[in-house]
Amino acid sequence: MSKAEGKAGELKSELVANRRFFHKYPETGWFTFFTTAAIAKKLKEYGYTLKLGREIVKPEAREGLGSQEALHSALERAKKLLPEEEHSLLDVMEDGLTGVVAEIDTTREGPLLAFRFDIDGVDVTESKEETHRPFKEGFRADIDGITHACGHDGHITIGLALAKIISENIQDFKGKFRFIFQTGEEGARGAVGMEPTGIVKGVDYLLGGHIGFQAKKTGGIICGTNKLLATSKFDVTFTGKSAHAAGAPQEGANALLAAAEAAIQMHSITRHADGVTRINVGVLRAGEGRNVIAPNAYMACETRGETTELNDFMRNKCVDIVEGVAKIHGVSYEVKGTGGTAGGDSSKAITDLYAKVSRESPYIKNDLIVEELDFGACEDFAHFMSAVQKAGGQSGYLMIGTELAAGHHNKSFDFNEECLVTGVDIFLRSAYELNGR
Ligand SMILES: [Zn+2]
Ligand SMILES: [Zn+2]
Repeated sequence: MSKAEGKAGELKSELVANRRFFHKYPETGWFTFFTTAAIAKKLKEYGYTLKLGREIVKPEAREGLGSQEALHSALERAKKLLPEEEHSLLDVMEDGLTGVVAEIDTTREGPLLAFRFDIDGVDVTESKEETHRPFKEGFRADIDGITHACGHDGHITIGLALAKIISENIQDFKGKFRFIFQTGEEGARGAVGMEPTGIVKGVDYLLGGHIGFQAKKTGGIICGTNKLLATSKFDVTFTGKSAHAAGAPQEGANALLAAAEAAIQMHSITRHADGVTRINVGVLRAGEGRNVIAPNAYMACETRGETTELNDFMRNKCVDIVEGVAKIHGVSYEVKGTGGTAGGDSSKAITDLYAKVSRESPYIKNDLIVEELDFGACEDFAHFMSAVQKAGGQSGYLMIGTELAAGHHNKSFDFNEECLVTGVDIFLRSAYELNGR
């Protein structure tokens, strides 16, 4: 019998309380100041060595940072939420170097086992309808415009409980443990900013996952997620020259036409024989007035690919198109990355491990175990995963089943809190398999 037996279940009420606490104070992107401080405080209590700020985030590698106003209001809010004596924790996070990495060493020879949990919310205003449980039961977000509508409040909670159990039972283990609490998963902005500091260097096993998504029943699990798509998010701006649309159109340089043409050409890129690719121009804004040749245009674009190479193919084609239409219309252009991640597949050994421990877990129903599934979406866990795999380590991404009140990123998103216990149990059993004595 696994030494994990019973340990996750004992923490049920603490898991629910923690989830509701984090749910109430959501933050997004790089500005997860309060969330980071609250997580760090608990990890310290559990006996972990913490790394914060520049030790775990390379400032210039961050993408999709957000505006100065957003930074200012996030910092002010964090100061209000945090007790005075904890304000010093914010200093090390500077202008948004948030997230925290925690380590514990058993002092016994063994592998370095890392877990990654994402901690950011989504830019959505949470429902205030009576049927929405967080509202009805008093743990709705304390702010409009930001909410935990993806379930990362659950991920934080699972990660903290796992860290607590491992630390309390450290005599059962060998090797080292590392917990990566990563911000900026939404928009695939976080991992690219953290990975260059070496936080997954030397990691033998990296485990991660998500609640819900394609696992929509309590007691269900998807053990190995494959085909996590690679993605690039980028903004394109065209700068032309305004002119009178009737009197002297030949003197203008039409940025609107350049953008319109670029959008159509991007959506017409020849598909690649090697696998799935995606392109989307999600925003196109241009021009100043009805009778003015448009001097400016902005496009928000993203590409995806089944592999990093396929995504690069799409992105490079987009840049060629931008360059080409800029020449045609005599406008200048800028392409600015705002996020991205590598793609990848879970390591087979980790998929098999998750399947094994799922069969042993009392929280998983055997007929609801799905061994492997193609994700067909992006998760910036893949950025860490591919770094670990390239260096010879193994990594896998699972999905823990839960009913959802509404889809991910919907204002009425909520999940069955039973999945928190399941998540802790599966990761803990995996820890005993990989680093148990
Ligand atoms: Zn999400
Ligand atoms: Zn998510």
